Amino acid sequence: MEKKQIPGEDARRRRVRRLKKGIVLSVLVWMLFPVVLSGVLFHKVNALNRQLTDTQESLQQLLEAAVQGQEQISEPGQDTAPQLSRTESRVEAPVAGAGGMEGLADSLTAQQEAPQAAHKVYLTFDDGPSKYTEDILDILDAYDVKATFFVLGKEDEHSIEMLREIARRGHTIGMHSYSHKYADIYSSLEAFSADYYRIYSYILENTGIQSTCYRFPGGSSNTVSDLDMQIFADFLEEQEVVFYDWNISSGDAGSTLLDVDTLVENATADISKRGTSIILMHDAASRPTTVEALPEIIENILAMEDTVILPITEDTTPIQHIHKSE
Ligand code: ZN
Repeated sequence: MEKKQIPGEDARRRRVRRLKKGIVLSVLVWMLFPVVLSGVLFHKVNALNRQLTDTQESLQQLLEAAVQGQEQISEPGQDTAPQLSRTESRVEAPVAGAGGMEGLADSLTAQQEAPQAAHKVYLTFDDGPSKYTEDILDILDAYDVKATFFVLGKEDEHSIEMLREIARRGHTIGMHSYSHKYADIYSSLEAFSADYYRIYSYILENTGIQSTCYRFPGGSSNTVSDLDMQIFADFLEEQEVVFYDWNISSGDAGSTLLDVDTLVENATADISKRGTSIILMHDAASRPTTVEALPEIIENILAMEDTVILPITEDTTPIQHIHKSE
């Protein structure tokens, strides 16, 4: 059967097709519009959230600074903190920062983060300053990480410049004896205290920081000292100074130079098993592989779940070999 051609039907069909196209197009537009809109809104909300977080953080820091200031005024000479509690040094030490407020802000940020993470990791560098100090500082800066340097009394111009740089960049400066000569330091309490006052003054004179943490050369469990190490530990306690050993050794102090992979493995393997990890490393001219391994060590730690890298502060749980605290 042949369909009868009605005049004007072609034009009508074309109109219908155009109409259909129009409807499909507008439906598509109306479907896309909310998607695009929510994308834009999502971005805006995110940006606002970031601004809000930043504002909250600075407000929190200001508040805590004010509270600390009040504590200092209302409780002169009274120690409320259990550990590194030298009242007058609370603001400047233990997190260095020669610039006072800058150091304080860093310290507060660290303290705020501290309770939130299940695993707290402290990178510590002994025996510096050295020719590698600046490299180490640059790496730490690149990852925005703060560490602790247990320094020796080195009077040359470069060492003093580096000591100040450690402080300026907001890391914690701890004492590791002035001379590092085990036989001298551990020969008597008099010798130990004389050395202690030298390193304490060296740091104070060059950075303005009253250091409140100490690492015994060889650790508190060293076998060099003929005297009971407790005698020296008691002396430090009288000075309201806390000593820190380590529970993870990178192994970088041995007679053979370890390769990067071994250092990374040593430094990071046990972190997830512990609440507090204090990692022993060295800032020393004879230890180039420590510097080479440091970026990977930090990257591995930062990739671990619920783990944070912090400088030692008065909130840090000390690891002490002679007290077998962990
Ligand atoms: Zn040492």
